[in-house]
Amino acid sequence: MRGRQTYAESVTTPTASSAEPGNRRILLVEDEQTIADVVRDYLLQAGFQVDMAGDGFTALQLAAVRQPDLVILDRMLPGLDGVEVCRRLRQTMSVPVIMVTALGTEDDRILGLEMGADDYVTKPFSPRELVLRVKSVLRRSVKEFTPEPPVEAAGLELDPASRTVTHRGVALALTVREFDLLAFLMRRPNQVFSREELIKAVWGWDFGDLSTVTVHVRRLREKIEANPTKPELLKTVWGVGYRFDSGAGKAAEQPAGGERGHGGQ
Ligand code: CA
Repeated sequence: MRGRQTYAESVTTPTASSAEPGNRRILLVEDEQTIADVVRDYLLQAGFQVDMAGDGFTALQLAAVRQPDLVILDRMLPGLDGVEVCRRLRQTMSVPVIMVTALGTEDDRILGLEMGADDYVTKPFSPRELVLRVKSVLRRSVKEFTPEPPVEAAGLELDPASRTVTHRGVALALTVREFDLLAFLMRRPNQVFSREELIKAVWGWDFGDLSTVTVHVRRLREKIEANPTKPELLKTVWGVGYRFDSGAGKAAEQPAGGERGHGGQ
């Protein structure tokens, strides 16, 4: 017997201390009970607390009530699919989301990222790798003990301690990875980084789908640029990668010795 339509259950490990995963709550959204059970066991073993939902509506309700630290979200769900759940979550919460997709096409993965997912894994996946991804995302979302100092450039003020960003005084809602990407680039103004370098430095992956970077850059631009199609802060350097332009706005495109006509190296 399996509660296939709408099961919701909660499993908690009695870990008292504030040590790493112990007080972290994961919402696992997966309609295939067998997969859900396996993943839950791995998460519990790693010391996380786990809430489970078997469909999209239950997932949204549980997320609101339990305020998880991270959501693992299957893409294909009965009723409300994962992409829609992610979109709705994003309207009210900045909780990190790892999307699990069975569909291997690039478009599909990108759709998940466009809707605000921070990472994704493709089915079939190794539960161990998923747990590593969870830890990696959480490490980045809570840099509890040694937050880096705030950084300010081009009207943007970014504070790693509170994980807040304002643009000309207006607070921006960034996802975990958007925040990390922006922080990384703002700390290294006017330096160009390839997508490979960024996925390594910001995501901590040695391999990975580079379109993840592309999508995050696009999303960031929509939040920080006056005109996202003509970015002045987060610039594309054709054939190379991306660069945060700290002087944008003020020194208005000074002809800085030939960044035009060059086509990469
Ligand atoms: Ca599914």
